[in-house]
Amino acid sequence: TQKIRIGLVGYGNIGKGVELAIKQFKDMEGVAVFTRRNPADVDSNLPTVSIDDILDYKDAIDVLLLCGGSATDLPEQGPELAKHFSTIDSYDNHGKIPDYFASMDSSAKIGQNVSIISVGWDPGLFSINRALFEAVLPVGQTYTFWGKGLSQGHSDAIRRVTGVKKGVQYTVPLDKALEEVRTGLNPELSTREKHMRICYVVSEEGANQTEIEQTIKSMPNYFEPYETVVHFIDEEQFETDHQQMPHGGFVIRTGESETGSKQKAEFQLELESNPEFTSSILVAYARAAVKFKQEGKTGAFSVLDVPMAYLSDKSPEQLRKELL
Ligand code: NDP
Repeated sequence: TQKIRIGLVGYGNIGKGVELAIKQFKDMEGVAVFTRRNPADVDSNLPTVSIDDILDYKDAIDVLLLCGGSATDLPEQGPELAKHFSTIDSYDNHGKIPDYFASMDSSAKIGQNVSIISVGWDPGLFSINRALFEAVLPVGQTYTFWGKGLSQGHSDAIRRVTGVKKGVQYTVPLDKALEEVRTGLNPELSTREKHMRICYVVSEEGANQTEIEQTIKSMPNYFEPYETVVHFIDEEQFETDHQQMPHGGFVIRTGESETGSKQKAEFQLELESNPEFTSSILVAYARAAVKFKQEGKTGAFSVLDVPMAYLSDKSPEQLRKELL
């Protein structure tokens, strides 16, 4: 059988992760990386092609994996490309997902393509578990905790502070809150009670560390609502200990069935590399896009609309035998 032919749009952390992940999916092959930069400057083992030439590849690609950022890349590239290709993306701006869905849906329908949006772990696998737990345990409460994990946005915010040479931020769920949730106390938790933020900073020569720490801790939205700890470390330690992008978290639902029996469902992820794991999820969903398209479906879909069996390269018969 013919392999699923994948095109990558954008070559950042997720793009690189997708290129690597495809090696583990024997039914897939990478065709090319499409980039807005000079293709010669993009260091991939796949052919690198200017995004301006992407339409030349319409017949050579089954699914495009959109690896751009959610803030500005996907809202622009997604609806344009969905007119010409079936797509998978990891759009993660939760509040704007309905708008993004609508725009992808109309583009995909114009091109008679399939676009599966907001694929990843949150949104993505976490959303699936929130939906599943809520559906099967109607009386209860669902909690999501993130971390321990590196937050790209918060790390960027630290690096913009005067006197900061290098910096990373880890979001850490608080044990006390996790315990209260797990015991079924159904606590009302404030932002500050759920997570804390731990920062590792390399300061510029002669910079005022007290001032840097104050500036970080008082940053509205980013750090002010949280308990924030700032550690100053030297550059060597930064290079050895803080080059990975770990992440993960928990979806927990506690509730009661009719007699008052306490029930708890929990899903946990512990990831050494967030982009590598997220990319692997994107690749698996390419199978679903191909199957949907074969069935004649068109338009946008989210992870909640995709049956589990469509993610697998095994047949439904085989899955029933092995995994039910
Ligand atoms: P990056 O910033 O690494 O890459 C985004 C884009 O920037 C790339 O596609 C690339 O486009 C461009 N780019 C990358 N490196 C360079 C460079 N050196 N110089 C110039 N341009 C560059 O973002 P990530 O790959 O880390 O993340 C992408 C998105 O993935 C995030 O915005 C987030 O929305 C999503 N995500 C979702 C998750 C989920 O669970 N749903 C989890 C993790 C991430 P080009 O090649 O065209 O220049």
